[in-house]
Amino acid sequence: MFTIVRPEQKSSSPFLPYDLFAAINDLKRSLNAVILAHYYQDPEIQDIADYIGDSLGLSQQAAGTKADVIVFAGVHFMAETAKILNPDKLVLLPDLEAGCSLADSCPPEEFAKFKAAHPDHLVVSYINCSAEIKAMSDIICTSSNAVKIVSQIPRDQPIIFAPDRNLGRYVMEQTGRELVLWQGSCIVHETFSEKKIAQLLIEHPEAEFIAHPECEPSVLRHANYIGSTTALLSYSQKSSSQAFIVATEPGIIHQMRKEAPSKHFIPAPGNNSCACNECPHMRLNTLEKLYLAMKNQTPSLTLPEDIRVAALRPISRMLEMSG
Ligand code: SF4
Repeated sequence: MFTIVRPEQKSSSPFLPYDLFAAINDLKRSLNAVILAHYYQDPEIQDIADYIGDSLGLSQQAAGTKADVIVFAGVHFMAETAKILNPDKLVLLPDLEAGCSLADSCPPEEFAKFKAAHPDHLVVSYINCSAEIKAMSDIICTSSNAVKIVSQIPRDQPIIFAPDRNLGRYVMEQTGRELVLWQGSCIVHETFSEKKIAQLLIEHPEAEFIAHPECEPSVLRHANYIGSTTALLSYSQKSSSQAFIVATEPGIIHQMRKEAPSKHFIPAPGNNSCACNECPHMRLNTLEKLYLAMKNQTPSLTLPEDIRVAALRPISRMLEMSG
């Protein structure tokens, strides 16, 4: 764990400490807490975090932490995964309402029927799902390791892939395998406009177009590079290009600019002139809520033990298979 040294994040509220960064760092020490943040969080939350990453990296950090308290700056299914891996630790989520449209697109009762209709299929589920769906799965994957995981399953084994149909289609293309897809999707990654991206590519011929595999095929077919948020970040540093049009939640651009300040990053636009490429769930977390969650040690994640144990098995399998 480290302590951020940077100018204070000033609070204007008389009910909050003047320097929120210092107050959070104090709480981190007194609670022996670790702050894990997703790349889609607001920049100031990323700047106070001990670790910033995508779902795979965050799960690996959660599995290995020696901290007593995990403060998860992300959405509900991510904090839930940390709790599944750490039943004896206090796992705090700054806003318990921070859900996920993709996880919500796969209700457990309907998925149980879908699974029962394919009794000989192995279930590979993307980590963006509820603990109940994880408990019905054989292996969990993330966008970083989905291709690698499916490639390790014998070719004659039929597979259900849930809940994201776009990532599922991408895995089918990459592995040359047929998968039975649950028809779920993410509202953020389905908002990108192919027409506006094509216009941007004409306006910025020097730019590479990089995209997350949760985007629709009509968007992905224009991409110079497709990868998880971590892979997109790494690609934008290594590529000799000086400009990138980025089709994923624009929170990642904060890290891209920090790692390569001389490069130009353009968020891919949505269909409307709104900020709908920003995840409304991720953005429910704020630095103030993060401070209050640590100070009050609530809201925290709880899970029925039978669901937790059943959900742990496919997550552990993923961690073994992804090395
Ligand atoms: S960006 Fe999409 S998949 Fe990610 S948390 Fe938000 S709604 Fe869920």
